[in-house]
Amino acid sequence: MAYQQPQSPKYDCLLFDLDDCLYPFSSGMNDLITKNVADYMHEKLGIEESKIPELGNYLYKTYGTSMAGIRAIGYEFDYDEYHRFVHGKLPYENLKPDPVLRSLLLSLPYRKVIFTNADKIHAAKALSRLGLEDCFGQIICFETLNPPIQKTTNSESFGECNGKPTKIFDIAAHFSQVDNGESELPKSAILCKPAEAAFEQALKIADINPKTTIFFDDSTRNIASGKRAGLTTVLVGKSQRCQGADYALESIHNIREVLPELWGDVGEKKSEKVVGNEITIETSVIA
Ligand SMILES: [Mg+2]
Repeated sequence: MAYQQPQSPKYDCLLFDLDDCLYPFSSGMNDLITKNVADYMHEKLGIEESKIPELGNYLYKTYGTSMAGIRAIGYEFDYDEYHRFVHGKLPYENLKPDPVLRSLLLSLPYRKVIFTNADKIHAAKALSRLGLEDCFGQIICFETLNPPIQKTTNSESFGECNGKPTKIFDIAAHFSQVDNGESELPKSAILCKPAEAAFEQALKIADINPKTTIFFDDSTRNIASGKRAGLTTVLVGKSQRCQGADYALESIHNIREVLPELWGDVGEKKSEKVVGNEITIETSVIA
C-alpha cells in the first residue's frame, strides 16, 4: 500500500511552548504579565481592583487565560490593544541570548514549531531576544487560532466598546455558595491552550501528526491536554512528571540528557538520567 513506509522515524516534529518554557520562570516575565493583565482589567475594563485577584483566578482556571475569560464573561475589547498593554511594557531585556539552547535546537534534525497563547509580536520579540528567531519553522500563536474578526453587521464589533460591557456574567457568584453553580458558564470566544479544541486546531493548521511529535510545555494543564491530543509530552521546568507527562525536564537545556534518542545517540552520555516514574534530573540551568 502506498502509505506504508518501511521505516518510519519515531518522531518528525517538536512542538514548543514559549513563555517559561524556552526561558526560565526566574526571568520574572510571568509576574509582570500577571500584573499587566490585572492593570488592564482595572484601567481599561473598570473592574474593581479588590475583585481582580479572585476573578482572575476563576477566569484563568475556567478559560485557560485571563484574556479568554474576560471575553467569555462579556467584556468586549480590542485584542491587539490588550496584547499591546500586557506585553508592550515588558522588560524584554530580561531575556538574554541563549546560545546553549540555540545550539541544541539547531542540532535537532526535526521540524520545530512554536505553540503559544501569546500574540505574534510578543512571540517574535521574545524569540529574538533569546537568539532563537531562526530556530523554528512555524509559530502557532494567538492570531493563528483567533484570526481577526471581519467587520460585521451584527453588534460584535470589537474595539469599539472598551469598558462598556452591557451584560457581564458573574463568575464569582457562579462558583460561590449563592449560586451553587447553577448558572450556565458562558462559552469562550477565544481559542487557547489548554482547550482540547485549541490543540486540534493547532495540529491541523501546522499539519502535525501527534503520534510522531513531542510537545514541550511548562504548564501541567497544557501537558495533560497535549497528552489527550495524542502527543508525546515533556513537562519543562519541573524535575517531576505530572499527569499526562511522558518526561520532565528541570530546564529546557536538559533535552539531550533526557531524550538522547532524538540525536540518535542513545548510548552517549546516558549517565544519570532515568525515564520512568521517578525522574530525577541533574540541572545545569543557565538563567
Ligand atoms: Mg508557558
